[in-house]
Amino acid sequence: MTTQVDLILTGGTVLAMDAASTVIENGAVVIRGGVIQDVGTKEEILGRYRAAEIINSPGCTVMPGWVNTHTHLAMNVFRGLADDVTLEEFLDRLVRAELRSLNENMVTVGARAAMAECIAGGTTTALDMYWFPQAARRAAREIGFRLLNGPTFMGDADPEGRDFEGMLERAEAILSENQHDRPDEDLWVMPHSTYTLNTNQLERIGALAARFDARINTHASESSGELALVNQLHNDRPVAVLADAGLVGPQTVLAHAVHLTDAEIIAIAHAGSTVAHCPVSNLKLGCGVARVPQLLQAGAAVALGTDGAASAGMLDMFQAARMAALLHKGVAEDPTLISAERAIRLGTVDGARGLGLQKVGTLEAGMVADLQVVRTNTLGAAPGVDPWSAVVYGSGASDVQHTIVNGRIVMRDRVLQTIDEARALDDLVAVAAVAQAAVSES
Ligand SMILES: [Zn+2]
Repeated sequence: MTTQVDLILTGGTVLAMDAASTVIENGAVVIRGGVIQDVGTKEEILGRYRAAEIINSPGCTVMPGWVNTHTHLAMNVFRGLADDVTLEEFLDRLVRAELRSLNENMVTVGARAAMAECIAGGTTTALDMYWFPQAARRAAREIGFRLLNGPTFMGDADPEGRDFEGMLERAEAILSENQHDRPDEDLWVMPHSTYTLNTNQLERIGALAARFDARINTHASESSGELALVNQLHNDRPVAVLADAGLVGPQTVLAHAVHLTDAEIIAIAHAGSTVAHCPVSNLKLGCGVARVPQLLQAGAAVALGTDGAASAGMLDMFQAARMAALLHKGVAEDPTLISAERAIRLGTVDGARGLGLQKVGTLEAGMVADLQVVRTNTLGAAPGVDPWSAVVYGSGASDVQHTIVNGRIVMRDRVLQTIDEARALDDLVAVAAVAQAAVSES
């Protein structure tokens, strides 16, 4: 007797990313009702199950989808607007552009194109900090992408035309709506940073997060310019300022955390917060190199992110993983730091845990079926002697063949199934042109 299931992926090398780092050659993953039912060799699985559909993928690697723990999806409408400039100049241009031109439709269009880019590159989950968050949520629901977001707070005026009191009021409405909509999903509150919010504002956001038991996503210690600014404003360092406002705990994701003291590394590890390491963005903006080996050594949780497309260029988690694996080796002159296996771990299961997703990030029975099938029998990755290296050092976003979220195939043979890719691209170019025009005026 065989059990009927929805989908079986066969024939590839399965990287389960479980605690034992199981690798199964000629493996198979069984999916039923959006959940992974079983994982094993092709032979044993086909003896136990029959499926509505079997996708055979010899020469491929089957692994969890990437979990992008820091991005601003719809910022792709401003891609290229502020490249090769300092973080301060970047923020100045970006914030002005957002205040002048951003609207709900731009966020919908940008988020759709960004999620198309994510899915095409094997990313199945993203933590998104941006304006008009409900528009991005609606787009994600249509597309079938695992998007986590929440209300963002920034200074005294936001692109949605609110002052801080208005932001707080709106945040409460969004949190109530999200809590009601999806009670099984964690809520998120997103104070932008300690250089765009004063102490009183941060404390009130901390109180709001505590009231809703919400998770917190913020930027911290990204550049030395930021440290100077925060010192002027708060007479302290970003991590201490956040901690004083009740914003550093096990539910916190700190984006970047590049400039940390030894004491801050220990404090972050102790608090159980997750650092979203964004090496491509940090390099592109000349921000420095995060002390990831030291964070890991101290037992801190580290995950990977791309940051937004305006700062990082692409939303490509293969680049983030590759850069995380290369950068720290080079800086410390130690090639044993951040192995390829560790880089994949940071980009999948560790990211999921950092976002509070206990059922995402590994290919094991009972886990949600979020995964990617990557072609690794390629000129860049063959012969694939080391399956981790084949992915991190030999493959890229365009090698992803199929992407599955919640058991649903959202990309099949590189064709997006839930978004019209050509239209998403045309729409992005059209709204970006409107944004550019608004920015160049006056
Ligand atoms: Zn960011």
